Amino acid sequence: MPSITVSCPGKVNLFLDVIGKRDDGYHLIESLFLPIKDIADSLKISEANAPGITISCNHPAVPLDSKNLIHKAAQAFAEKTLITPKWKIDLVKNIPVAGGMGGGSSNAASTFMALNELYDQPLNKTEMQELAIKIGADLPFFFEKSPAIVKGIGEKIASCRVEEKLFMLFVPFQFPVAAFWAYKNRQDGFSHSSITCEEYLSLLNNEKFPQTYNDLAKPLIEKFPLLKQACDKLLKLGAYSSNVSGSGPTCFALFKDQESLKQAHNKLKRQSIMATF
Ligand code: ATP
Repeated sequence: MPSITVSCPGKVNLFLDVIGKRDDGYHLIESLFLPIKDIADSLKISEANAPGITISCNHPAVPLDSKNLIHKAAQAFAEKTLITPKWKIDLVKNIPVAGGMGGGSSNAASTFMALNELYDQPLNKTEMQELAIKIGADLPFFFEKSPAIVKGIGEKIASCRVEEKLFMLFVPFQFPVAAFWAYKNRQDGFSHSSITCEEYLSLLNNEKFPQTYNDLAKPLIEKFPLLKQACDKLLKLGAYSSNVSGSGPTCFALFKDQESLKQAHNKLKRQSIMATF
């Protein structure tokens, strides 16, 4: 069996509104997802010495057993295709763990795609996405690797164009936040945004520099004042919008051009990562 190495991009939600909740507890969202290729994990799948799925990772907080979303994806692939797993999977983490940038989901989607390639495409994309949504609501987006308006619980993906080049700064934090916590503590009611996701995208594409929107930001900045401080600081440094990424705690900001992005990056004392789209 040859080995394969793939890159797993992070994501940011420039717009995230929660519009309802299903009886099974899943939230219904309307969100503009962007893949962030500048902040990516690397995943290598090769043949193991013995049957099974063995995972290694350079980050101590990432589980290496069946709790890892990579393991869940590999197991689901093996069961669906009736292939006996004998896989060693080495993960190099660069995406903040439990940081609201979809790292685990991206890893899992890449695992499906990499195994599918290694075994000459036994599954089509729809089959993989059907398996993927059972592992996590954010997974289907990562099969596209392009900007998308995401609806439902995350299974309805409409690829879209982002016309303008975007200049972004990400500020990671060392503490994790469980997505479950952010959703559990979100404000009551639904559809709090004054504009729709489509309207946000249209403003973005027409160089109107709209404010990002994240329904989950309120409980996060109330519980962790550090996040509000970071967002305020980013605005002070010239960003036209700053926010928490998904369920946090990573913060991000958008700048109008490369020069203001660079200046803010230089002035910001704490660790931050520049990315463009
Ligand atoms: P999302 O933005 O989709 O809500 P996230 O980026 O906030 O997710 P992840 O980094 O995907 O969060 O990880 C959340 C938790 O899942 C971690 O605390 C970790 O225990 C577990 N986990 C399982 N598999 C992975 C993986 N491959 N990479 C990182 N964490 C993983």
